[in-house]
Amino acid sequence: MDCVIAIDIGGTKIDMAGVDVEKLRLVDSSSAVLQGHEQLDNGSFFEFLAERINELMVALRQRGYQAVMMGVAAPGPLDHRLGVIEDPPNLAVRRMAIVAMLKRQYPEMFGIYLLNDADAMALGEYRLNYQERDHMTLLTLGTGVGCGHVEYGRLFRGRGKASEFGHTSVSIPGTMRECACGGINCAESFLGSSGLARTYCEVFEIKWELLSTRDRVSLSHLVPKDLRWLMPEPEDKRWTEVFDRYFLHLRLVLRNLACVYNPELIVFNGGIVRGFSYLQVRLDQLRNGLADMAANDPFMRLLDGTQLTVSSEEHPALFGAAWYAYRRNEAERATHEQFPA
Ligand SMILES: [Zn+2]
Repeated sequence: MDCVIAIDIGGTKIDMAGVDVEKLRLVDSSSAVLQGHEQLDNGSFFEFLAERINELMVALRQRGYQAVMMGVAAPGPLDHRLGVIEDPPNLAVRRMAIVAMLKRQYPEMFGIYLLNDADAMALGEYRLNYQERDHMTLLTLGTGVGCGHVEYGRLFRGRGKASEFGHTSVSIPGTMRECACGGINCAESFLGSSGLARTYCEVFEIKWELLSTRDRVSLSHLVPKDLRWLMPEPEDKRWTEVFDRYFLHLRLVLRNLACVYNPELIVFNGGIVRGFSYLQVRLDQLRNGLADMAANDPFMRLLDGTQLTVSSEEHPALFGAAWYAYRRNEAERATHEQFPA
């Protein structure tokens, strides 16, 4: 049987799976930590990736599946038409022509496609849960902050590059945070895992500037887990303050999102929030309290009627990347049949 290999390249790990697109099923999946990811250049990164793909292909063959296409989700900025990952702040690779490299390594594939990871997650959520909706916005809160918007089943991405909503600024009086991209007060510098770790340091009076890179990375990994574990009633009330500040930052970002898309539905996913039931409670409270907030801020009213949902899907980006590859390939074959070269 045929299947699509879906790959989700994150800041610290690579997830991949064989996906049976017609049955909407993961056939086999794997997750590999990118050891020393800060130093991996294009060559060593690709070597690591190809080894994982080869292992997956063996496992798929043992289950009677033949991989015929690949969909690769990666952090932006990237060029999906040229198949090039450009210079993402959360990865060390630069101007990596990943689609050409994969095509050379796997010439038997019918098609190999690249897309932004937040777009892949948005498409996956849409395909799995929201196909009856006209509009859907996905906000992913993890190592980075990403956003994908689907309109009538198609990704909204302007001239071709994905939205980079995580790098739009948030106005927080008295706060100046430098983002990994070099910008100031990007949404990611508050809502990404290192942004949350910085908020934790502010509340617990730890000087972020004095921490080693290693300590920052480890806090960015631990704080989101501890927060989810401890909320809503931690013994140490400083954790409540960490959550309240994170939620205030989120509210300001949602206001920006509402001003751009006036969305019908916002789905939250990503390592920080996936299945975080207490966040869902607070989002419901936010929606119920919008009339009060709108008295002082008419643009908060744009969120009135917007559904805010925390997703429990574990692998939406893998489903999205596979579905994208499948549809792109179908479209290409149709064009080719109509207009033979
Ligand atoms: Zn930024």
